[in-house]
Amino acid sequence: MHYGIDVGGTKTEIAIYDRDWQCLDRWREPTPAQDGEAFLTMLAGLVQQADDRCGSQGTLGLGFPGVLDDQGHLVAANLPGLRAWALETTLAARLDRAFVIENDSRCFVVSETGPGGAAEGQRHVFGAILGTGAGGGAIVEGRLLKGSGRLAGEWGHLPLPAAAAKRYGLPLLPCGCGLQACLETYIAGPGLVRLHHHFGGASTSAEQWHVAWKSGEKAAQRAHECHLELVGGALANVVKLLSPQVIVVGGGLSTVDHFVEALPAAIARQLFADVEMPKVVRSRLGDASGVRGAAMLGAATAAVGHA
Ligand SMILES: [Zn+2]
Repeated sequence: MHYGIDVGGTKTEIAIYDRDWQCLDRWREPTPAQDGEAFLTMLAGLVQQADDRCGSQGTLGLGFPGVLDDQGHLVAANLPGLRAWALETTLAARLDRAFVIENDSRCFVVSETGPGGAAEGQRHVFGAILGTGAGGGAIVEGRLLKGSGRLAGEWGHLPLPAAAAKRYGLPLLPCGCGLQACLETYIAGPGLVRLHHHFGGASTSAEQWHVAWKSGEKAAQRAHECHLELVGGALANVVKLLSPQVIVVGGGLSTVDHFVEALPAAIARQLFADVEMPKVVRSRLGDASGVRGAAMLGAATAAVGHA
């Protein structure tokens, strides 16, 4: 069996998969985000419960929000309780098996490239999540691109392009990562709400922006136009760097049809003329993609270890 764990700021989910990647069972626990010791106990408990249900030890992959710094500390704004430890070493002392940990957006692209995913079997894929944040990950030559510092895929922390900032008169806002004017602050769900406010709208959620857009409200349409240009430009940069065959879009904004349908043209407008455009597709596995990708990475590593 293969276990995947997806650690979120409020809930942590574990799922058990068979060799054909059918999900046999899944359940959730609250994440003790402020208390590292309680967090480790919770994780070890989830793994033990999975072993008890399966009657054997499964392989294990864990997906986390955030990135590991050069000391192996997790840098994740909504998991402050874990900041004090070198995460992999600390987990290794508590979990009685080999495991993999990876950023949850990287898990997403792994899953969408696997069986039943939106980019199944493709060898060059970029996964772009637009939800509460803007995360991403790349499959290059059929393998997850990690890079030296495991940062590869962090497209949300590329900077706002100066031309668009000037044209739309956008303010330069601080980002949770410590940098200024990161794209995530403007293009993730909360960012779209900020854009709506900037153009005179009054939504408090991306859903409310969408209602306003459907009603034909001018501010909501202007926010959409600006948002599309920013996302299209950022993904055009990704295409220039990685040349994917497919871009899989996930997260809450991927459920907005007119946004996803307008993306290919928005990307093409900011690329050279007549270059091969990647297909833009919506996530097929939705919210389950992160936990499944974590399990797939754990299984792949265990298979290599046994070879
Ligand atoms: Zn940032």
